[in-house]
Amino acid sequence: MSFTHPMSLEEITEQMVALAMDFGVSDAQVVDAGALKVNPELVRYCREPQCPSYGTSGNCPPHGPSAREFQLSLEWYEKAVVFKVDVPVAVLMTDERLPVSRKIHETAAILEQFAKNAGCVVTMGVATGGCRALFCSGFEACLKLQGGLCRHAGLAKPSMSGLGVDFTVLSTLAGWTVNTVTAESSSSGGEMGALAGFVLLGGTSSEL
Ligand code: SF4
Repeated sequence: MSFTHPMSLEEITEQMVALAMDFGVSDAQVVDAGALKVNPELVRYCREPQCPSYGTSGNCPPHGPSAREFQLSLEWYEKAVVFKVDVPVAVLMTDERLPVSRKIHETAAILEQFAKNAGCVVTMGVATGGCRALFCSGFEACLKLQGGLCRHAGLAKPSMSGLGVDFTVLSTLAGWTVNTVTAESSSSGGEMGALAGFVLLGGTSSEL
């Protein structure tokens, strides 16, 4: 995709929201990047109970970017396009969530590529779910951890929980009312939860 004129950040984020909705997300919103909250304590949920991607993926703890590094990097970005897909809690508590989680990574990848093509100088996509379990479960090891290139570079994003992103704060910023799902959540009441992702962006060619 090519653009005939440099777009402002506002135009870019508007089009990213429209693109996300076209891609089938339940909602997408633009929030200030600096308003996102990082809580390093939340990273413990990656290892208790241990996610299959913990320690086995170059994008996940303890090998991927740490919560502290991510928190410091937030000042590089101006806006975040956040999006979610509503999913029944009963689905979130089983492997049926995996295709939805792959869709979250795909959506983040498409939006991030759009932002780059539109002239954003700095971008970062983040998605729910560890990429080892989602994309590389059929392989013996993560290529990135072996010093190579990621098999799914551009598609597999760092996981939101691995970066310590506070989903409750993100939901509030986006205006979403979302149930927090834990191992103790009930899957029998028909309650809805959500899987989410976002793309951080800043610095457009229209500003140069
Ligand atoms: S190769 Fe890429 S997608 Fe696969 S586990 Fe490693 S970082 Fe994730």
